[in-house]
Amino acid sequence: MTSDSPAPRPRRPGRPPSPAAAHAAATGPSPAQLLSQLRARSGTDPVTHVERVPARTGKAAPWPSWVPVELQAACTRQGVTAPWQHQAEAADLAHTGNHVVVATGTASGKSLAYQLPALSTLLTDPRATVLYLAPTKALAVDQLRAITELELDGVRPACYDGDTPRAEREWIRQHARFVLTNPDMLHHGILPGHAQWARFLRRLAYVVVDECHSYRGVFGSQVAHVLRRLRRQCTRVGRTPVFVLASATSGDPAATAQRLTGLPVAAVTADTSPRGGVTFALWEPPTLPTPTASPDDTDLAPVRRSALRETADLLADAVAAGVRTLAFVRSRRGAEAVAANARRALDEAVSGLGAQVAAYRAGYLREERRELERSLLSGELRGLASTNALEFGVDLVGLDAVLICGYPGTRASLWQQAGRAGRSGQEALAVLVARDDPLDSYLVHHPEAVFGTPVEATVLDPTNPYVLGPQLACAAAEAPLTPADLDLFGEGAKEAVEALVEAGALRQRPTGWYWRHRERPQVELRGGDGAPICVVETATGRLLGTVDGGSSHFLLHPGAVYLHQGVSYVVDTLDLADGCALVHPEEPDWSTHARDVTSLSVVAVRSYVDAGPVGLFLGEVDVTSQVVSYQRRRIATGEVIDTRPLDLPARELRTVAVWFTLSPESLTAGGVDPADVPGALHAAEHAAIGLLPLTATCDRWDIGGLSTATHPDTGAPTVFVYDGHRGGAGFAERAYATAATWLRATRDVVAECGCESGCPSCVQSPKCGNGNNPLSKADAIRVLDIVLANLPSGAVRGQPGILP
Ligand SMILES: [Zn+2]
Ligand SMILES: [Zn+2]
Repeated sequence: MTSDSPAPRPRRPGRPPSPAAAHAAATGPSPAQLLSQLRARSGTDPVTHVERVPARTGKAAPWPSWVPVELQAACTRQGVTAPWQHQAEAADLAHTGNHVVVATGTASGKSLAYQLPALSTLLTDPRATVLYLAPTKALAVDQLRAITELELDGVRPACYDGDTPRAEREWIRQHARFVLTNPDMLHHGILPGHAQWARFLRRLAYVVVDECHSYRGVFGSQVAHVLRRLRRQCTRVGRTPVFVLASATSGDPAATAQRLTGLPVAAVTADTSPRGGVTFALWEPPTLPTPTASPDDTDLAPVRRSALRETADLLADAVAAGVRTLAFVRSRRGAEAVAANARRALDEAVSGLGAQVAAYRAGYLREERRELERSLLSGELRGLASTNALEFGVDLVGLDAVLICGYPGTRASLWQQAGRAGRSGQEALAVLVARDDPLDSYLVHHPEAVFGTPVEATVLDPTNPYVLGPQLACAAAEAPLTPADLDLFGEGAKEAVEALVEAGALRQRPTGWYWRHRERPQVELRGGDGAPICVVETATGRLLGTVDGGSSHFLLHPGAVYLHQGVSYVVDTLDLADGCALVHPEEPDWSTHARDVTSLSVVAVRSYVDAGPVGLFLGEVDVTSQVVSYQRRRIATGEVIDTRPLDLPARELRTVAVWFTLSPESLTAGGVDPADVPGALHAAEHAAIGLLPLTATCDRWDIGGLSTATHPDTGAPTVFVYDGHRGGAGFAERAYATAATWLRATRDVVAECGCESGCPSCVQSPKCGNGNNPLSKADAIRVLDIVLANLPSGAVRGQPGILP
């Protein structure tokens, strides 16, 4: 049995970048010039496709007649002389009492769409209040600044978050009229203290939900119920506020907003703001001439130059050419590595030039993040390597180039990241640098899947019982639940309440369900699997940052190399009970790679398709995984130094999986030798995990897999792919519904890959728990051919579940 649990990606070594471009002209080149400069430094042309995204002219609309003159004047002072059509349309819908979501591109001015109705109401009704929710504190602070700069009398905006001093909180509750906060504070602070907020809630006219596409997966499902709890408290004081949501471009925003709020929501999606043209290149790093050792201990594959090294070089070259550049990197360690390598290359070329590059990620402390944002805005910094944390950060304008290191998982995120370039009407460059994995290599050779396909819908599942039960407990602790509340919380609420009664958490009385304990229920909205782990420097006691609980076993095990701002640390101890890891600065010449073992059992089948020798299933599974060891590998060569055992507890996950089975006879008939079945299934599993983000809005690191020549619960050769989140996040469901499309793309990427016997671009996985062994590329194609030949094409219509 071979398994691949959702896990952080290990860092890959590459060859040192060329500093030649550091001597390039100090004046900024045009996007086309910059692209040809970047291309020229490579032996073989790494660009597989160039897409020209044309500039767009804006379509303005008159101010809606209900906007007070003083608000119009304030906007004009800020340089907004008239709204764009989509802003006016969304504002009008909200003003007339319709819940509305505006879903348009980066920098299309979504703020004005909610500011117009919200501020107009505050100016014309001196008692009204507005609640604004942002996914991050930084974004709320940003919005506070924007509102304050309008200098409107009597609006009294204020941020209310974990950083708000106690002394100010009482004033805000009693007097502020435009309160900016986040779902976490609403969940932990405002809703439990609703009695103190009664004045505010009784007058609540609008609830603004900004960047609502970020409420996806389990976090999105949690926030959906926090919003239902908010609606419940408003109803209790006789108020029904209008919801105005702002989203990045996404598929079917009305349906997503409806799932999120539980309300009917109208969508405004036509972006009428002006946009600069973007030259968008797809970039595939070249294969290295002589692989010394591949990252996963097999020596059968050619290895591509890592996307991280390639991105670091491109960043260094762009900064040296005077181009202000933002590089998006999927992992926090990756962002650190890109910044460190770009700095080194620049310093080798011109001493001190490296100081113009820094790293940025969500785990940094607030002060550090603010400082980096300030430096990039002021121009002290020219290059920033960032995790997607910036998607919600300061409104960064004036970027000339955006480098995207590895496909960010969804076209929606890709366009959000690319949208950081080419604002303010100037031309810009965007480059997607492919990682050595199946999805990225598929995309750089199928540009139609990037540019000719609509963006995905945001996936969330408020019926997840692991979310619904705890949220109902929170609601009951705020005020007893009534039968009417069960409708509000939707499908599954009745069963969840009964389970809470059974467990002794709620008591049923004639007037409703009552929370039985003195303490409030402990429910975390983010991370899900355990509280974040603090990373502390032993000698100084300094807090370096945090790592989410789910990743901590992989990233912070004793002996792990941990990077922070390009500085290397080694973990001394990981104390899971105290939620803290102690580290000391040390720069060894090896990297560390955690290994885990996983087992899986089927709990129940929700739905299945009987396709002759092939079966396709969706259901609940229990996954048990344990990080058992880690490898140390030389950074320069990838050579494995040793494997060291670890003593960490196993973790259990009840989640949702999609799986397919094949009869042994069909495999033999299809030309798969029985001895090769494990390698065939394992290779198909890797490629299928790699391609799932094509149809579900997850990324590879959100999902795990397991394959086996006979599974005790299915009695057949089986490949499982499961959600890495407790209770499931909707990804396996999506995979099941789109199985034919998903597995067809999987088959194509394996068959089209130019390698002989499997490489990271097709069937090898960077996070394989079994060291990519066994793997059979040719047999994986045979397996997928058998599945596709039997599975009905198009959307899956399964039959209701059976017991295994
Ligand atoms: Zn390959
Ligand atoms: Zn594997």
